[in-house]
Amino acid sequence: TNEMRLQKAIAEAGIASRRHAEALISAGRVTVNGETVTAMGVKVTPQDAIEVDGVPLTQEQKKYYLFYKPRGVISAASDDKKRRVVTDFFEDEPQRLYPVGRLDWDTSGLLLMTNDGDFANRLMHPSFKVEKKYVAKLQGIPTREKLMPLRDGLVVDHKKLAPARFKIMSTDKAKQTAIVSLTIHQGINHQVKKMFETLGYKVIKLSREQYGPLTLAGLQPGDYRALKPAEVAALE
Ligand code: URA
Repeated sequence: TNEMRLQKAIAEAGIASRRHAEALISAGRVTVNGETVTAMGVKVTPQDAIEVDGVPLTQEQKKYYLFYKPRGVISAASDDKKRRVVTDFFEDEPQRLYPVGRLDWDTSGLLLMTNDGDFANRLMHPSFKVEKKYVAKLQGIPTREKLMPLRDGLVVDHKKLAPARFKIMSTDKAKQTAIVSLTIHQGINHQVKKMFETLGYKVIKLSREQYGPLTLAGLQPGDYRALKPAEVAALE
């Protein structure tokens, strides 16, 4: 059903946080179909006419962006220590956006940003197996055999992971480093780092290069672009 709580409908329209929406309701500033509502938890549907201070709530347009997250940025909508966050890059957009999942502070790469909570939750759900390709720089030079457990399903944090695909892309004998790509479809915290570390290789640099069919083509760190409707549909 399309029913939702009034405060959520106000928050989703992008005019207030959910808590602020509750304050607006308590203050008697919100009407539903012409009637002032001050009780919390009233359910509304898209057919209901909601007004805040006499101004109709228009359905917020859903927005979907592909962002090239730089290293040194937090995957959150805000940070109480005022560190750089991904939404800092979207200050020109009127919508309140948030990231679909997270990349570590020191990880760069492809991160989707949206104001569509249902879309984000679907993609983040474990049953939704979107493939993500990472490129890791490792301390040390592994052989193919050493990395084979990645393909069989590693045990990390007492959990057996799904099989992952990998490719040793290059090695640097002088620096004792290797560049290895890894494709996974789960999203456990720090998963890629933990997978390599379980096999004895520290990840010294990490980037997410692909998310399902999407890549970073044409973007520099800090850039973003709107997804095309067909790209959004391909993820749904
Ligand atoms: N795996 C990690 O270890 N870090 C990320 O940021 C993403 C996946």
